[in-house]
Amino acid sequence: MASDRPPHPVVQPVVHRDVVCPFCGLGCDDLTVEEEPPATLAVRSTDCPVARERYSRIPAPEPPRVAGVPVPLEEAVGAAAAVLGAAQAPLVAGLGTDIDGARAALALAGRLGAVVDHALSDGLYRNLAVLQRTGWIATTLAELRNRCDFLLVAGPDPAALHPRLFERWVTPAATFQTPPSREVVFLCGEPLDGTRAILSGLPVTVLAGDSARVGDAAAALAAALADPSRASGAAGIAAGDIAALAERVRKARYAVVAWAASAFDGAHADLTVERLVHLVRDANRHTRCAGLPLAGYDNVVGVNQVCTWQLGVPLRTSLAGGAPLHDPHRFAWTRYAEVADAVVWVSAFRPEVPAFPAGQTVIALASPGTAFADEPAVFIPVGTPGIDHPAHVFRSDTVVALRARRLVDRGLPDAATVLKAIVAALPPEAPAC
Ligand code: SF4
Repeated sequence: MASDRPPHPVVQPVVHRDVVCPFCGLGCDDLTVEEEPPATLAVRSTDCPVARERYSRIPAPEPPRVAGVPVPLEEAVGAAAAVLGAAQAPLVAGLGTDIDGARAALALAGRLGAVVDHALSDGLYRNLAVLQRTGWIATTLAELRNRCDFLLVAGPDPAALHPRLFERWVTPAATFQTPPSREVVFLCGEPLDGTRAILSGLPVTVLAGDSARVGDAAAALAAALADPSRASGAAGIAAGDIAALAERVRKARYAVVAWAASAFDGAHADLTVERLVHLVRDANRHTRCAGLPLAGYDNVVGVNQVCTWQLGVPLRTSLAGGAPLHDPHRFAWTRYAEVADAVVWVSAFRPEVPAFPAGQTVIALASPGTAFADEPAVFIPVGTPGIDHPAHVFRSDTVVALRARRLVDRGLPDAATVLKAIVAALPPEAPAC
């Protein structure tokens, strides 16, 4: 039977092209994202599971809460400022935010005399600890794509964390090689099925070995580079394979050693990184070689950059004494949360917040839909950088800050705005005597 009601208007999806993805640190800037009004997003141009999941998970906005009770934003900001104004040992952490958010978080931490750290600094410090101890020779993603003719992937396939690494930075033709050629070797790790498919047009060698002992394999390779007669087996890889690999590194014109430190097992993964860094150093006695440490989820690289340029020291720093005091052991957020009397936790990239010690006072600035183990003292929903508001985030190789644009308007404030409002609402500082 025909209806005399007017037909439903067909709502056409809005197509966003050349979208910059802010999530894993690779900085892909070629995404096509479809928006079904009012605010549902779907990635159409890539199978990257991280991008698909992150763009599709944008819950409806919800009001701020104080002690579990919905309140207007101004009231939540005032409650947060009241709690923080009385805190003696606050922690400003999580810091899953864009560059503006990081700057605002540092301003709040400076005003409070707080400790600052990022939720994912454990993985970052596996690299930073080595950089601080020994220095390193590192390269960029652009150098990998345009100059590298020999890529050594150390440990587990980084594509598990950075899904489009090979598609975006390894298989495109090199610009500055004549003739163009590229070879990939996996050392103590096996390529994922997707990686095998993407690399099918390149010569690939897999020396699977024991991924937990990739540092041993790197040390054996460094020894074989120095003196081929000293080639020995390591991590389940035969001496002959180590010797052959050393010969290929020697013949390379621009070798790159890539790793994702977050994928390394064990409490002392920084020692594995140190052996890889030494391998790169030793390889430079024979050819050009550089390391490529991969990191960058939740803009941890960008937040660390902001911390370093504003304070002169990286994350895991206390601002309690007037001058920044950096201690990567003492001021790791997992340790300091045990003694802090108030925690500001920022998680704008994903609706996840860790469980804190029982009774901890938490001010959470997080995505709507965040599930908490314990209701925080104050919860203020904030927008996601590159989805709800324009944002700058740093790429994994630390040299490029990318501008991600706004895609939807859920009416959510950005973390920087909320953090600045909290600073403005803090009780006046006592005049210096
Ligand atoms: S690889 Fe990383 S940056 Fe690229 S689309 Fe996937 S999540 Fe985004």
